[in-house]
Amino acid sequence: INSIRTVPLAPPDVIFNLTAKYKADTFAQKVNLGVGAYRDDAGKPWVLPVVKKVEQALVNDPSRDHEYLPILGLPTFREASIRLILGADSPAIKENRVTAAQTISGTGANHLGALFLSRFYSKEVPIYLSNPTWANHKPIFNNVGLETRNYAYFNPKDNGLDIDGSIVLLHACAHNPTGVDPTQDQWKAIADVIESKKLFPFFDCAYQGFASGDLDRDAWAVRYFVERGFELLICQSYAKNFGLYGQRAGCLTFVLKNSDAAARVSSQLAKLQRSEISNPPAHGARIVDRVLNNPELYAEWVENLREMSSRIKNMRDALRDCLIKSNTPGNWDHITNQIGMFSFTGLKAPQVAVLKEKFHIYLTDNGRISMAGLSTSNVEYVANSINHVVN
Ligand code: PLP
Repeated sequence: INSIRTVPLAPPDVIFNLTAKYKADTFAQKVNLGVGAYRDDAGKPWVLPVVKKVEQALVNDPSRDHEYLPILGLPTFREASIRLILGADSPAIKENRVTAAQTISGTGANHLGALFLSRFYSKEVPIYLSNPTWANHKPIFNNVGLETRNYAYFNPKDNGLDIDGSIVLLHACAHNPTGVDPTQDQWKAIADVIESKKLFPFFDCAYQGFASGDLDRDAWAVRYFVERGFELLICQSYAKNFGLYGQRAGCLTFVLKNSDAAARVSSQLAKLQRSEISNPPAHGARIVDRVLNNPELYAEWVENLREMSSRIKNMRDALRDCLIKSNTPGNWDHITNQIGMFSFTGLKAPQVAVLKEKFHIYLTDNGRISMAGLSTSNVEYVANSINHVVN
């Protein structure tokens, strides 16, 4: 038995470490392009106006208390989350073969999904992650004892591996970190591979509505897979599209072959959830619940979402324009072709190091930048600095 006194020191989290270094930097023009959270044009966190409004209403609601939620969370929140991702008229909903659990945001959905599959699917099969992927995926699956392997992103023709029965993780939209999503034809090719190899699709959907500004468009891939009859699961996060990062509102949804399987899965999810967190947190889920279930508030939310996605799109255009104007070597079309919160710039680790050390611009070593960290007042500075490091 090891003694707790000899526990080794763990390395700090890369992203949170980057933010700490940015905060400690006293340079006036410093820029943080590391963190995956929306910022307004003044570089400030943005509480969505619709969220502010609903929060006020919640505070003033005399019927609100701080009792526990049910183990699987607010029922109306779960139902609305299912409708949001699958579409209100999804046959799977009508056929009663969908079930969901409210989770600790997207991370919690990934974890509960991973835990469930490790118990009831197989502990023996690996889960395939895109290379690269969100830095937290591998630890989440490894923590429940699942082996993680990489698939080339993106190469649907690569049938070389013997991966029958495996789980495959797919980013529903706005792939993190690359910002590159498959086209609809490429999704069809991916579905063909998954069908022929009998793989289990594990969708991670952390940016619905944030990617294109259109909630339905961003759910296209998931809905296409459901239409083709796959059994699958979906992890939803309301961190980015509601700006509810710290409130930890999320949902894990299973689409199954029949209602009997859905009921059995639901019972096991409740059992796992009970021992993991007992009950999910209420505040963020109540906000999302009120917005998703009220047509007027929903319309306001869609407007707020559009504001965020258009600002990000404007920043993509501005960054590319500045890079071209200053004759920065290379092709920068990918900046505007990529979608979602991030852009994979193609900058290499030594160039990133110079950006950090000389120009006080903070980004991860893989060259990923958060578009939300750009603003009308810093985009030129960032472009000029990139120009300097690639020259
Ligand atoms: N999945 C992906 C791909 C992400 O990028 C993120 C956040 O960055 C998440 C899941 C989960 O985030 P959260 O737990 O804050 O909802």
